[in-house]
Order: sequence, then structure tokens, then C-alpha cells
Amino acid sequence: MFQYARFPEPLLSELSMIDTQTLQTPLPKSLQRDKPLALPNIEEPQVMRHFLRLSQMNYGVDTGMYPLGSCTMKYNPKLSERISSWDQFTMIHPEQDPSTIQGSLQIIAELEHLLSAITGMDQFTLQPAAGAQGEFTGLLLTRAYHNYHNDTKRTEVILPDTSHGTNPASVTLAGYHIIEIPSGKEGTVDLDALEKALSEKTACFMLTNPNTLGIFESEIAEIARMVHQQGALLYYDGANMNAILGKTRPGDMGFDIVHVNLHKTFSTPHGGGGPGAGPIGVQQKLEPFLPIPRIIKQKKQYHFSYDHPHSIGKIAPYFGNFGVLLRAYVYIHLMGSDGLKEAAEIAVLNANYMKKKLVDSKKFDLPFKDLRKHEFVLSCKRLKQERNIRALDVAKRLLDYGFHPPTIYFPLLVKEALMIEPTESENKETLDRYIDALIRIAEENSEIVADSPKKTSVFRVDEAAAGKNPILNWQEIEKSS
Ligand SMILES: *Cc1c(COP(=O)(O)O)cnc(C)c1O
Repeated sequence: MFQYARFPEPLLSELSMIDTQTLQTPLPKSLQRDKPLALPNIEEPQVMRHFLRLSQMNYGVDTGMYPLGSCTMKYNPKLSERISSWDQFTMIHPEQDPSTIQGSLQIIAELEHLLSAITGMDQFTLQPAAGAQGEFTGLLLTRAYHNYHNDTKRTEVILPDTSHGTNPASVTLAGYHIIEIPSGKEGTVDLDALEKALSEKTACFMLTNPNTLGIFESEIAEIARMVHQQGALLYYDGANMNAILGKTRPGDMGFDIVHVNLHKTFSTPHGGGGPGAGPIGVQQKLEPFLPIPRIIKQKKQYHFSYDHPHSIGKIAPYFGNFGVLLRAYVYIHLMGSDGLKEAAEIAVLNANYMKKKLVDSKKFDLPFKDLRKHEFVLSCKRLKQERNIRALDVAKRLLDYGFHPPTIYFPLLVKEALMIEPTESENKETLDRYIDALIRIAEENSEIVADSPKKTSVFRVDEAAAGKNPILNWQEIEKSS
């Protein structure tokens, strides 16, 4: 069993606070605060130990395997981290004159080209700061495109029932109605259901390929034909592209708009909401609507261009989340086109290796057809029926074995789902240990599993209470205690 560090670590505010009321200040009374500011008063070594201990109680991609299906961090090379912390990048300000930040603008422009080549699209904008914001931007582009063609009656967006939760949220936020279609018996888009859902009211169809079950939509060319025949657009949720890098491209499959999550597929460690970047790529017909400013090169100089009358406007402050863009730029150059292709091959190999071993163990079931891309979804339905062990319990018990759990209970069409994405970062020994842990948990005393985790810094939390009554900062902790 793994043992996590556990320290009785107080809040900084419990260690020592500055009495700001007694501080001397040259500020006139009118500019001083009414109430003293609550600031901790702690020496450098104490601060360092406090945060180091907190980090040791945590689990991250540098601690161990992190196969959080559909959302996980793939390979995050340390070189990206090192270069993105250079002063040349961290000390610039976006309000600087463009002539003084030519290098950074060149990186942005070149990254747009690299992403266009990788996805098979004509133009990119790097502004959106997350996958979800990329989706929202793509839907605004969709509306601008249809409006431009005086096609204003399109109010619906079609989604498969395997779509990621941000898809329906973005559709609603953009003011469209959701039309959800069920998956067919292969776990892919049911063409009859799509045919029925498509109409002159369809603005676009949003799809992930491979889908969140890890299955490649082999009918994608026919899907694209059907969608375009109705005058609608085809949107690609490319949050996780590491199954297809260098193998195939959404542009070649017939997609009109794609977003990619740089913080997933193209490095940048993230969690708990950031940092991220969700650039959008489009076919040429959508170029006039892209957000401003666009970066253009004239007379060997990069400039900001605002002269795009059909643009949907600004989506994010300045030019996007530059630190994340920079990591992606370094990552793509570090890997090269052969490296990206190899990452895809290993990601797919790892997923299929784990899937086969776990299915062969006969503890877990694999719904739908067999072959998977970068991830796979198992069902713990039988484990629940026969041994009263739920997917949630398996996930919690994995922590005692020193592993981050997979995604659970998603997608909704699989009962007691475990969604595992091993990624290209893991070697065979690690995969074998994870497989072994899952099989052992399935054979363990169900009470021990239900009572887990017991080796972590925090035991099982009341997730419903945490969701309903979130306490998100120390002032609220003080209030509630
Ligand atoms: C993560 C993810 C998203 C959303 O991306 P965020 O950056 O978290 O907003 C959308 N679709 C899929 C398939 C994802 O995995």
C-alpha cells in the first residue's frame, strides 16, 4: 500500500498575523483602508515549509499515473516549463509596443500555422482560454456565418449522448437549443438518428472523434456529407487529439471548426480549472468572423490587425493565455512531426493493452465494439451486482494503491463507468501495476473498499455536501468554524 504524507498543517492565518493597524504609513488618511488588511506575518522558511508540506499531501502528474479519461494531462516535458519561465517571456507586458515584442508575436503567428497543419484547418485564433471557451467561440462563429448568409432560422445544435459536459453548456450559453441523439449499438453516431435530427433549423453538429468511449467514428465522411447537405456546419471537439496526431486530421474528415485543448494534448500541467488554452481553427469560409485582433506580418514586422468588419469581436483579453501557448509551441518543436505521431501510437497502444488485460481478467465489462483509440470505458455493473462494489468505491480505493483514479460515471450511457486514459507518458511497468491494482480491488473485501481511502491525507469526503456548500477560501473557513 502507498502512504501519502499527512501533516496537521495550520492555515497561514493561524500561524501569525501582522497587526497592520500599528504599521507606519506615509499615506494620507483619506487613502488608507478603513479596516486593517489581514496579512500573514511569517518568515521565509516557515512559508516555504508550509507550501512544501501542502504539496506533499497532494497528488499530481509528477507523483504518479493520472489516467483521468477525456480530460487528463498527456506528456508535459520539463523543457516547456523551463522555457516558459524565461524572463524574456515573463517580464513582457501586453500593452508594450508591438515593435518591442516581435519574438512573442512571431511565436503566436507560428503556433497558428503549426496548429493549422496538425488539424488540417486554414486559419487559427489562439484567443480562447479553455476548451469550453473555444466551443463558445466556435458557436459564435457558427451564428455569424449563418447570419452573413441571411440564414437566420437556424436555432438548433445537435450533440451525441457521449458528448463532453461542456458541449451542452456552451450550446446553451450561446443561445442555441440542444438536440441530443443516442449512440448506435456500436457506440458511435447512429446515422438514422442523425438524419432525423437534421433539418433547416440545424446550425451545427458537434462531435468528438474518436468519441469519449475511445471509439473512432468510421462513418465520419458520410456524417460530414449529411450535415453539409442540410447547410449546417460540423464542429470538432479536439480537446484530446493524442489518438490521431500525425495520423489523420479533422480538416480532412470534413470538419469546419475545431478547438484543441493545448493544456491537454500539447503540454501544460493543469487542474482545478486552469491554466488552459482552447484555440479555434476554421476553414477559410469562416475566416472573416474570427476574433480580433489578428496577428499579421507586413514588411517583416508583426502587427495587430483590427480591420475585420465581420469579426465576432474580442473573446479574451489581449491575445490569449500566452504562457500556455508558449508551452505548446515548445512541445510541438521538441516532439517534431515524427514525435507527435509516435505519441499517438503509444497512447493508443497503452489504452488497448490495458483494456485487453482488464477485460481478460473478467472483473470488468467493455460495452460496445472492441477496438479503442486513446481511452476506453469499462463498466463495474457486474461488480456492483455481485459484490456491492461501485465505480466510486473502486476509484477511492485506487488512491490507497498510490494511483489517481480514472474518470467515473461518464459518459452517462455506460452504467458504473470507469473511463481510463493511460496516455503516452506511461511505461509498461506502470500500466501493469495499475492493472494489478484494479484487479486486486475487484477481489478485495467490499467493506474495506467501501471504507477507502485510508492511506491519503484526507479520507472519503462528503461529495454531495461539498458540491452544495462549497467553502472555497480561508475567510469562509473561519466563518464556518
Ligand atoms: C476537457 C474537455 C473539454 C473542455 O475543456 P476545458 O478546457 O476543460 O474547458 C471539452 N471536450 C472534451 C472532450 C474534453 O475532454
